[in-house]
Amino acid sequence: MRHKIVAGNWKMHKNAEETEDFLNELIDQLPDDLNAEIIVAPTFVNLASAADHVEFTPITVAAQNMHQAESGAYTGEISGAFLSKLGCKFVLIGHSERRQYHSESDEVVQAKVAAAWKHGLVPIICVGETLEELETQGQSAVPVAQTIAALSGHETLGEFVIAYEPVWAIGTGKVATPQEAEEVSKAIRKAITENFGAESGQSRILYGGSVKANNVAGFLASGEVDGVLVGG
Ligand code: PEP
Repeated sequence: MRHKIVAGNWKMHKNAEETEDFLNELIDQLPDDLNAEIIVAPTFVNLASAADHVEFTPITVAAQNMHQAESGAYTGEISGAFLSKLGCKFVLIGHSERRQYHSESDEVVQAKVAAAWKHGLVPIICVGETLEELETQGQSAVPVAQTIAALSGHETLGEFVIAYEPVWAIGTGKVATPQEAEEVSKAIRKAITENFGAESGQSRILYGGSVKANNVAGFLASGEVDGVLVGG
């Protein structure tokens, strides 16, 4: 049975004080019978304090991005080595905002996945189709192709999580139905199993895109969708 994940991508929101306040509130509200992994992805500048803050709680911390190089002349970038040192367990890779605004190609995503594994981080690989791709190629083709590209070319695969996030649903209030999320998750899982084996096929697949309190239950109830990635 795959353990569910509820992850929050805080994007460029929440200063140091807001980060601490939110984490305190979250810790206070965690139910005693919590049966999911809770992951928060604050901004880089608040990662270290957030990781310290949640150290003895069931919450773990993710970075929103990382650079694929170990170190070097990459002004403004952060390497996986730094992230793992400060207590990060996960790292979001290939979020559509990175693909869109920072020209992150499938090759870059693949290199970042390799670098994440090298540093003991679990990549949460974000995949999803734009509205145009949805209309011309259907819902599964692009997320499946992006998943295969991210996982190809590695000698062995480490642990990973896939986040299916249709670009047309991110921050727009338009949400895929749980049935659509299930169909795409199934297609992604089938492709992973066929290309990389049954063990990798048991990796967790999340849905993200305008998930709110009033629609989250439908996704969490699904046997195919292993949790949610929530932004706004
Ligand atoms: C995201 O950015 O990963 C996301 C899912 O955003 P939102 O919940 O705002 O659609």
